[in-house]
Amino acid sequence: MSRYWNSLVAKLDPYVPGEQPRIQNLIKLNTNEHPYGPSPKVLEAIKAQTNDSLRLYPDPTALELRQAIGRRFNLVPEQVFVGNGSDEVLAHVFHALLKHDQPVLFPDITYSFYPVYCGLYEIQYKTLPLDAHLKIRVEDYLPSPGDRNVGGIIFPNPNAPTGSAHALGDVERIVAANPDVVVVVDEAYVDFGAQSAVSLIDQYPNLLVVHTLSKSRSLAGLRVGYAMGHPDLIQGLDRVKNSFNSYPLDRLALAGATAAIEDQAHFEATRDAVVRTRGMLTQGLEQLGFEVLPSTANFVFARHPARDGALLASALREKNIIVRHFKKPRIDQYLRITIGTDEQCAKLLEACQSILNGSAVRSIGN
Ligand SMILES: *Cc1c(COP(=O)(O)O)cnc(C)c1O
Repeated sequence: MSRYWNSLVAKLDPYVPGEQPRIQNLIKLNTNEHPYGPSPKVLEAIKAQTNDSLRLYPDPTALELRQAIGRRFNLVPEQVFVGNGSDEVLAHVFHALLKHDQPVLFPDITYSFYPVYCGLYEIQYKTLPLDAHLKIRVEDYLPSPGDRNVGGIIFPNPNAPTGSAHALGDVERIVAANPDVVVVVDEAYVDFGAQSAVSLIDQYPNLLVVHTLSKSRSLAGLRVGYAMGHPDLIQGLDRVKNSFNSYPLDRLALAGATAAIEDQAHFEATRDAVVRTRGMLTQGLEQLGFEVLPSTANFVFARHPARDGALLASALREKNIIVRHFKKPRIDQYLRITIGTDEQCAKLLEACQSILNGSAVRSIGN
């Protein structure tokens, strides 16, 4: 607290990112990064841009990248907005497209950045509880007749940190039932097995779909995300972006992101490898007695009925393996484990086995 802070800054409750420790030989399964590197074509494209042209500003409209995304998803560039990571895209979405004086709806257990943006932009919000299986209750997002007290809706599909997805029909019901507000589907993990809502964009002017290159394109370090929707929504985002930072993507990011979107073969091969490993990890955890929620993401959300989640996470850490643990009601017994390489996942299973056999972690109630 400082007397130089204004009243808004004083009451912010900022997001806490998963840690990025500098420890050698660490098995890092805590922030859902891709275990395999980005396409070699991405690296070539970036290298080709490391020259004199860096003295020039990048294209403020990011046209080439937006065209590449458009080609990939059958959209025109006017339906595509790009930003410095999907976190920045989401920030502009909260600022520009969700109402500030009527509550924005999102699940109680979801991406924990959403309430942070609401704090930053002084947006009212209402959280809706997941059901007993930690799934979104679609009915909760269908307004009852006469209820106009909704400022917008946002949810990830698949949800984070549970990994559970809804079918396209469920998403469409929510979009169709709320024509007067924007419905944002945050598809950060959609490539790992869920159905994208992109195909509905031409039909619903209130639908915005947000993607990131951080997870399935293995480019968390490049910071590129994008939103797709009706040109009116994209223009609203552009107005905010151009009132904030005209050049959110630098020349290297633009070149790398465009190459990433264009290399479909590398994307599919590495994504398929992660999905295969997810199956093996799920099976291995279940054999050790874990309950694993069905996942369509590049992580699993699992708990052990006899072991405390926080203690399990710290015991793994002592073995140089980090996973994510949330000290939040309803999910504090779970670990969110990023799908690593086969070898990393085998080591994780080995470590879990030895923790469960040993006395390092006491059972709940002992
Ligand atoms: C990782 C993640 C993001 C942010 O991705 P960046 O593009 O790296 O900023 C957004 N939403 C969800 C649900 C995520 O898990």
